[in-house]
Amino acid sequence: MTVLVCSDLDRTLIYSANALGLTGPDAAAPRLLCVETYRNAPLSYVLEDAAAELEALADETVFVPVTTRTPEQYARVHLLRRPPRYAICANGGHLLVDGADDPGWSAAVRSAAAEGAAPLAEIAERMAAAGDFVLSRRTAADLFAYAVVDRAALPDGWLADLTGWCAERNWRTSLQGRKVYCLPAGLTKAAAAREVAARTGATTLLAAGDSLLDRDLLEAADHAVRPAHGELHDTGFAGADVTAASGVHAGIEITRWFRRRAGAVE
Ligand SMILES: [Mg+2]
Repeated sequence: MTVLVCSDLDRTLIYSANALGLTGPDAAAPRLLCVETYRNAPLSYVLEDAAAELEALADETVFVPVTTRTPEQYARVHLLRRPPRYAICANGGHLLVDGADDPGWSAAVRSAAAEGAAPLAEIAERMAAAGDFVLSRRTAADLFAYAVVDRAALPDGWLADLTGWCAERNWRTSLQGRKVYCLPAGLTKAAAAREVAARTGATTLLAAGDSLLDRDLLEAADHAVRPAHGELHDTGFAGADVTAASGVHAGIEITRWFRRRAGAVE
């Protein structure tokens, strides 16, 4: 029996300082392990105890990070002592095998995602004309666009308008922290997870994620879990177990949930 564990990273397993959600007295705060630096400064963390649980999980299952990060952004994350064999980046647009991009998968996804969807340039143009609350804009992996926005200054209804406009063009949106993502509807984490399942002969798929971009992955899984925060929580997504904690403490709950579920399968 091979259990495939596909997990989102940001705000599911790893947390930036803004996403930690620590609320108790500082004297009672848990020890954190920094798993990502950016420009030589710490950026993302897990609970120290979660790091040990993740090592055990990676020994017991086929553990696959599934992220919207580009391969370059993913490369900054050091979640395990030895990187996992497979990683899914760019929301399914890149499949890394032993750290190397699989060019066949990349090409197949690009042609599938382009079918029936407006070109990236049209979406990027709309984001460029959005307004002053957009602080910076990027395109990623030649596949999708995202913008860093000033959440407090987002005009009422702007995201709903953008979401409707995107839907007419077969694109979708996601708002995560200060980032607004626009992705072609056909670019999914679930498709890449199915590919890894086929390659590894997995008999069971377990999944976790917090955002609307994780929804298809959670729905494709045999069993799924999500933290008690994020877009799926805010929209009341009921297709997954839910952690008791929110913030960084949810990360260790999710890791333990994976280990319990995988143990129950075997
Ligand atoms: Mg996430």
